[in-house]
Amino acid sequence: MISIAENLKNVGQQINQAAQLANRQPEEITLLAVSKTRAADELRILYQEGQRHFGENYVQESLEKIAALADLQIDWHFIGPIQSNKTRAIAENFDWVHSVERLKIAQRLSEQRPRTLPPLNICLQVNISREASKSGCLPNEAEDLLKQIATLPHIRIRGLMAIPEATDDVIKQRAALKQMHTLFNRLQKQHPEMDTLSMGMSADMQIAIQEGATMVRIGTALFGPRRDLKT
Ligand SMILES: *Cc1c(COP(=O)(O)O)cnc(C)c1O
Repeated sequence: MISIAENLKNVGQQINQAAQLANRQPEEITLLAVSKTRAADELRILYQEGQRHFGENYVQESLEKIAALADLQIDWHFIGPIQSNKTRAIAENFDWVHSVERLKIAQRLSEQRPRTLPPLNICLQVNISREASKSGCLPNEAEDLLKQIATLPHIRIRGLMAIPEATDDVIKQRAALKQMHTLFNRLQKQHPEMDTLSMGMSADMQIAIQEGATMVRIGTALFGPRRDLKT
């Protein structure tokens, strides 16, 4: 059986390889280990191997892990859908939020961010494939939303996040990632502080890196298949 420590090495090699192919430096790409449904001990193993960024989707589950791993210097990223009544827990316990899709949520996160902590790092989630059932603002809403979010005091805009439609069609897959990169470059001109394009999961991380991702969110390729089927 392959250990998760070995998986981490393999994923690191895939990132390096993709970066090389794209004429990019591997250091430009941050690996976010997506640890939803995984036990705190599994995260601890990856931490011991040098992994620092972890992503979680469910508030209750993540709070338990954050408490269990309070002795570690982890950067916690919230990447799941956000209900209004969960913003306080997120603002108080996370370093990053990738899944902001409307102003009201950003306002609450800013208001509820403890003043003793640095501003909360935010990515705006964009529904790049325009799937009816999926989270994220529409691509043409992103500019206005960012303008408004940029005025909030306890938030720091870091970039954009996307979950392109799952497809076996590599041409379609690449097109969605390319559109995100184009949108990112355009909005970065208005918000030069933006340095993060969060896209690429286990199935498409190499293409995502070729298309400009700066942060890839990897679950299955690190931990193996998930135990529950929630996504
Ligand atoms: C679960 C999840 C991932 C990781 O997906 P894998 O295919 O397991 O690598 C990445 N991003 C988000 C938003 C997720 O919910």
